[in-house]
Amino acid sequence: MSNVVEVTDVSKAYGAIQALDKVSFSVKEGEMFGLIGPDGAGKSTLYRLLSTLLVPDSGKLTVLGMDTVKDYRALRRQIGYMPERFSLYPDLSIAENLNFFADLFGVSVKDNYDLIAPIFSQLAKFPNRPAGKLSGGMKQKLALSCALIHRPPLLLLDEPTTGVDAVSRSEFWDMLAGLRKYGITILVSTSYMDEATLCDRIAMIDHGKILRTDTPERLVAGLDENLYNAVSANMFRLLAGLRSLPEVIDCYTFGATLHVVGAESFKADEVKRKLATQGIDDVNIYPAKGVIEDLFIKLTRNDQE
Ligand code: ADP
Repeated sequence: MSNVVEVTDVSKAYGAIQALDKVSFSVKEGEMFGLIGPDGAGKSTLYRLLSTLLVPDSGKLTVLGMDTVKDYRALRRQIGYMPERFSLYPDLSIAENLNFFADLFGVSVKDNYDLIAPIFSQLAKFPNRPAGKLSGGMKQKLALSCALIHRPPLLLLDEPTTGVDAVSRSEFWDMLAGLRKYGITILVSTSYMDEATLCDRIAMIDHGKILRTDTPERLVAGLDENLYNAVSANMFRLLAGLRSLPEVIDCYTFGATLHVVGAESFKADEVKRKLATQGIDDVNIYPAKGVIEDLFIKLTRNDQE
């Protein structure tokens, strides 16, 4: 299988801010590849480079066999790019937006309608509504439809689910999964760590550097930590209590519980006894299954100290 995206030693700075620092990874044909990282990690900068809107300070980006600097004109016709910010014309209706993007690429909406039909069918109920008056989830569906209108072999989606409600997020991922049968390669970024598991492979990125690249399953399997859940009626006090103990390497909020990274000396009963001496006597501690977020926290732990 050939590589649709090849990023080699790419660096990019904005003045004194090193947004990307020697980034390398590749995406195979037909893959759903996730770029996972917090705000400011460098994801959008990478998308601007891949979509030929920026040039790198050093390194090389090859997309669909073309160089993003030398072959930018040809490449722009081949990619479907959905930028992080709303990319549509808010005063134009749904249909007008779609027709506009089709015209830009010299196609007609009906040429590739089969590709967008499952996505667009939900929008078709109100074709005349201005795009700016759609809900966040609907806007993203329209933006995805517009990015697909010329049937690109590669979709570049920059945080398509940011700020979108949980149901629409899940619908959006279902739509992406539905595109796979067309062989479209998808590079999607997110700061929602739970979305990592929906990708074939991910690159974890922070402070402009790739920390790890692999399948989510292999990455989590390699998380070699003594991990527990801890709950109590007063979670804030519990967090402070656990952080004060020498056998606790790290402790952080994880959904409705705390995740506790224990040192080798960590013994749940002993920890409960110590917490009780601090007046926290209703603690439940039980083993936790690590996920990508735990790995991220582990890999960035030294940065925070
Ligand atoms: P992400 O998409 O992961 O949030 P970005 O690529 O937007 O990350 O940003 C990476 C870093 O570069 C951040 O520190 C951000 O503040 C900075 N940055 C991004 N765009 C610009 C710009 N146009 N001018 C100056 N700094 C920028």
